[in-house]
Amino acid sequence: MTHHRLKNTTYGVIETICGCMYSGKTEELIRQIKRCEFAKQKYQVFKPQIDKRYSETEVSSHNQDRIPSIVINEPNEVYQHLKHNTRVVGIDEAQFFEKGIVDVITKLANHGRRVLVAGLDTDWQGLPFGSMPEILAVSDIIHKQYAVCMVCGDAATRTQRLVNSQEDILVGSFNIYEARCREHFDPQLSLRRKFEDQQELNL
Ligand SMILES: [Zn+2]
Repeated sequence: MTHHRLKNTTYGVIETICGCMYSGKTEELIRQIKRCEFAKQKYQVFKPQIDKRYSETEVSSHNQDRIPSIVINEPNEVYQHLKHNTRVVGIDEAQFFEKGIVDVITKLANHGRRVLVAGLDTDWQGLPFGSMPEILAVSDIIHKQYAVCMVCGDAATRTQRLVNSQEDILVGSFNIYEARCREHFDPQLSLRRKFEDQQELNL
């Protein structure tokens, strides 16, 4: 009896899509997931509970594409929802998960899952965002996405906060953030806005 040593298919892969806001991370995540759909691969997409007022069940991009998703609070909750036949696991807004997410995605990949992660690589101060540095470090494949600088039109890698807040998470609509290149990114702008606003109030 001949034993053929099959190519090891028990290992998966971690693919991370990173970049600033408006760089099309979620669009790319959705595009990759839709390809899995065509290939009849079972997928599940998870995202963190950011705003407690909403319990969204979809991941949607700025251009209105959408895919179903499961909202979780802790990275370990992935295991409670994970189906045995899921081949592809998507994680959106990964920067908001605590460090435990690194262990979760590593285990998923080591057990044969293709893990697609999307997240902001830097925060409003231009600093590494949450668990993203560790996620990028353990990724097999990294796609860096670029937005367009709203000042000069060059490729943008930073998220400029336009309002006066020092909160790590500021969920809202338009006019709170815009994409900027390195030259036009001003991490102090948000803090100056606060000072100027206070001066206005004192007048
Ligand atoms: Zn610029």
